[in-house]
Amino acid sequence: MRGVAVLGSTGSIGRSTLAVLSRQQEHFRVVALTAGRNAALLESQRTEWSPEFAGLAEAGSGSRLPSGPEVLVTAATHPSVDIVVNAVVGAAGLDATLAALRAGKRVALANKESLVMAGELVLEAARVGGGELVPVDSEHSAVLQCLVGRGGELERLILTASGGPFREWPAERVRTASIEEALRHPTWRMGSKITVDSATLANKALEVIEAHFLYGLPYDRIEVVVHPQSIVHAFVEFGDGSVLAQLGFPTMELPILYALTHPVRLPDAGVPRFDPVAAGALTFEPVRSDVFRTFAVGVAAGRAGGTAPAAFNAANEVAVAAFLDHRIPFGRISDTVHAVLDAHAVQPATALEVVREADRWARARALEEMS
Ligand code: NDP
Repeated sequence: MRGVAVLGSTGSIGRSTLAVLSRQQEHFRVVALTAGRNAALLESQRTEWSPEFAGLAEAGSGSRLPSGPEVLVTAATHPSVDIVVNAVVGAAGLDATLAALRAGKRVALANKESLVMAGELVLEAARVGGGELVPVDSEHSAVLQCLVGRGGELERLILTASGGPFREWPAERVRTASIEEALRHPTWRMGSKITVDSATLANKALEVIEAHFLYGLPYDRIEVVVHPQSIVHAFVEFGDGSVLAQLGFPTMELPILYALTHPVRLPDAGVPRFDPVAAGALTFEPVRSDVFRTFAVGVAAGRAGGTAPAAFNAANEVAVAAFLDHRIPFGRISDTVHAVLDAHAVQPATALEVVREADRWARARALEEMS
């Protein structure tokens, strides 16, 4: 029986995690739950699961539960917790990832922003504390599932991207897309920030950086292909030219379960069974980097290394929040991120304070760009 903390339990991944755990109660118990500000849902999850700890990261909700950003680290390092599912959105998830790894926990990481901001420091925290990082992202879970138990040199990764709702739109039309259009993802139901990131393809740049740190591959061996059906989650090429892929209908419940159980698999009846005939034709096409410039800027930030990915992540978070708040049109997200990265003086990301300073600087610079 392994103890699980679900950080961000009120969100899309958090709720899917609890759905998985409800079917696997012989193997896991919920020890800690945290939310941002949704006190009502957190209270009802607390009643259902009776965790030892529950807290809200944002104070002022009127709830009597412990509140403040520190609840994330409290939950992540709770002595009865073995596995931390980090399903917080954005930079707010970083401290909990670091603290859990330093405390020797397994981190089932949905919060890719942690790894993008501070990849070297996250890997070092795992080394020093004996913690283990297991991806929840479906593409990275696919890679892990293809690699596990296999020898042979990993040569190349090809991550798939659905292409988002604007895959076939002309560039000028994309720039004026509305919030409703950006939130209408063709294959996945997710929180609003990652859904917008999927429409700009910033999400795929974040995933390329995530893959670089998780699998230790240089950027020229990590590729992205658009696959509108979202059936193949990733391809893995080995030294002999052999290619493996992991397939399935789009659901996050399978990669969540695998992140809890890796390297073994548990039977689970909750995931839709694959049917190749129903899946139909599988198609692949290149990314239109000239239209989805945020993708190109993000991958360039990954290649630049140091504090560039943290600056990319921060500028993107601020621009996406402004778009969702009706303050800028869709096209200004990529303009803003591009301008911030152009102005960023990259530093080696050797200390958390350096990363935090890059994050602060990029947020302020993005706000200036948008004013
Ligand atoms: P949601 O927006 O649905 O949920 C975010 C969760 O984080 C909520 O529980 C929210 O609480 C909480 N939260 C928000 N702000 C803060 C904060 N400042 N401090 C602490 N907690 C906070 O997002 P998703 O579930 O879609 O995504 C979560 C992460 O998983 C992201 O990093 C995303 O990129 C990644 N991911 C998501 C996928 C998906 O299918 N959804 C797929 C792959 C990766 P509250 O509800 O109270 O606001």
